[in-house]
Amino acid sequence: MLKSAMMIVAALAASPALIASPTDPKEEARELFKQVVEIPTVQGRGEVPRLIALLSDRFRAEGLSDITVKPHGETASMILRWSAPGKPKLKPILLMGHLDVVEANRSDWQDDPFIFREKDGYYWGRGTVDNKAGILAITMSLLHLKRSGFTPARDIILLFTGDEETDGEGSRLAASQWRSLIDAEFALNSDSGGGGFTADGKALGYGLQTAEKTYRSYHFTARNRGGHSSRPRPDNAIYDLSAALTRLSAHRFTPVMNETTRAYLTERAKQETGGLGDAMRRWLADENDGNAADIIEADEKEIGLTRTRCVATRLAGGHADNALPQMAQATVNCRIIPGVAPENVLAELQMIAGGDITVTQSDAFGDATPASPLRPDVVNAYTQAVQKRFPGVPIIPQMSAGATDSVFIRAIGIPAYGVGGEWLIIPEDERAHGLDERIPVKSFYDNIDIWTDMLRDLAG
Ligand SMILES: [Zn+2]
Repeated sequence: MLKSAMMIVAALAASPALIASPTDPKEEARELFKQVVEIPTVQGRGEVPRLIALLSDRFRAEGLSDITVKPHGETASMILRWSAPGKPKLKPILLMGHLDVVEANRSDWQDDPFIFREKDGYYWGRGTVDNKAGILAITMSLLHLKRSGFTPARDIILLFTGDEETDGEGSRLAASQWRSLIDAEFALNSDSGGGGFTADGKALGYGLQTAEKTYRSYHFTARNRGGHSSRPRPDNAIYDLSAALTRLSAHRFTPVMNETTRAYLTERAKQETGGLGDAMRRWLADENDGNAADIIEADEKEIGLTRTRCVATRLAGGHADNALPQMAQATVNCRIIPGVAPENVLAELQMIAGGDITVTQSDAFGDATPASPLRPDVVNAYTQAVQKRFPGVPIIPQMSAGATDSVFIRAIGIPAYGVGGEWLIIPEDERAHGLDERIPVKSFYDNIDIWTDMLRDLAG
């Protein structure tokens, strides 16, 4: 370490051009990160346009001026195109991130969530992980590439949305009304993927997100003619509903394996010993081994990996203490595995609930989308950029149980890949959406370097 640092110092001393450089790139990135974190881009505060103006100024100053700002509601999204010269043979690449952050209350945090701080080897503040580090990684990598004289062999398109954490309108509109501006061969999203290490330095691997489960909610509704509670009958809306929910709690959907979860399990099986590792190897050997899938699903680290999961989340019912209930209703939230149609889940839920209960869809987010194929060019670019810094660290394909902006992009046939270059200490730094969000200082700069290498590789 020390030796290589000294060699760099020697190289710098021998290169007057580098010494004359006006700003140290690390200083520049830190200074911009501070400004980006300190703009509180929470839903309802109307601050996203100010952040877009800040970033647009930086891009324009480097000659990247093909920028479109799209207001929607109180927020906005931005699209930038860096065109390749001539007639490029390859279709564009789309780079994605989101500018908004989840609300954070000053009184709950150790320090002000919207004052950027460096402390104990970390950068602290709301959004330092989700997703402003990603915004900086994409922004700084484009600025570095532009300054270095890099010429893209295909168009690079950037899409920064303004409401990923809430409505997802930016990405939904990009995939529909603004499609001609963002159309691409594939998308790289900074909002998922990324690496994990334990506190004692053991590498858990870098995730490459290729799939997301589909979000749907359903109402289980029981209706009854009701009556006086002094004259109870066997038929009762609350009892009918509770019996249906008891059946739901025992129900298990059919296990499904796809290319992403197969690749994930192949890597995880190398790390796991004991019963869990055995079950992983058994399921990989035989997809019909439901017992092996059940053992994996029962492990707290792997919940949701093997199948669709549905769970009761809310209850309502009855209208008076002294009346038989005329209505009882539960909300059941489902995370549907890619490849399974939401209509089929609704039909299966109706079967479980039985004839006394009506099951209807109550909420949806995005379409059901297939897992994006593990394209060798993307997998190799990410693997090489990561392993150049962390030799031998496994790259593990991932399916998210939650949804990001990628869901709308995959739905129109553009494969999308979560390839965050940041890493965190697990579980200590898992604070996205939570309190005292922070990113290791070194991870912040590694993220920029990993994106720079990936883009050089995929767009060069
Ligand atoms: Zn996010």
